[in-house]
Amino acid sequence: MFQIIESSSAGNCAFLQYDGLNILVDAGVGVRRVGAYLASLGLEIGDIDAVFITHEHSDHCKALKNLVKYRGIKIFANRLTAESIRYSIPETKVLNWQIFETGRPFDFYGISVTAFSIPHDTSDAVGYCFGCGKRNLVWMTDLGKVTLSVMDVAARANVLVLESNYCPVLLDNSSRPYNLKMRIKSSHGHLSNADAIELMAALDASKVEKIFLAHISRECNNTEHIRELLKSSGKLSAILNRIEIVPPFSCNSSVFE
Ligand SMILES: [Zn+2]
Ligand SMILES: [Zn+2]
Repeated sequence: MFQIIESSSAGNCAFLQYDGLNILVDAGVGVRRVGAYLASLGLEIGDIDAVFITHEHSDHCKALKNLVKYRGIKIFANRLTAESIRYSIPETKVLNWQIFETGRPFDFYGISVTAFSIPHDTSDAVGYCFGCGKRNLVWMTDLGKVTLSVMDVAARANVLVLESNYCPVLLDNSSRPYNLKMRIKSSHGHLSNADAIELMAALDASKVEKIFLAHISRECNNTEHIRELLKSSGKLSAILNRIEIVPPFSCNSSVFE
């Protein structure tokens, strides 16, 4: 089963349970929130087998420093991301780091994991494709543009977590500093609602079982607005009822079995 515990510009963390393995994708929400979520499933933090980190921004890794007493949890990241986190949060040096090479698939107890590069303003940000049996779960948030290689991975997804970060008008009208607005819109920033719609429209409708629109900005986006855009786009009618907008206010997504 797969469920997003929380996703927004403020924090990101999701739970994947497959074949007896308990996995987190990113650890960017408070450890108490993760603990409460796991408790609702009859689990605790110590039951986590692995955390897969996408990049070093705090909305993706701030809970790591609170995992240091759980040495059994494997923390997967590429070298530059791990180094960046260990440098900025020294407590995390003692974590059970597992360093992988971006682009080279590896097996984690039966899950085929591929990390792929995404354009973002960090040392070496990645998205993930988790091959669970015959299905692929693809996680892609925090990317400034959809590259050809990103599109290739998205096309393999049966379940896709896709960033729909901002509405350009709300971003322009927000109180955010000019530099930050430029950063968000840049090719190493985030995807707008229109970018996300364009990507989804290019997918093979017969393959996509579920899309979670995630990493939505609290200040510069609006779930009702996204809903209207999806309905009016005209390109998404075949998959519209499979798209779930994850509200950016400490909300779980639905459970995907
Ligand atoms: Zn982020
Ligand atoms: Zn980021």
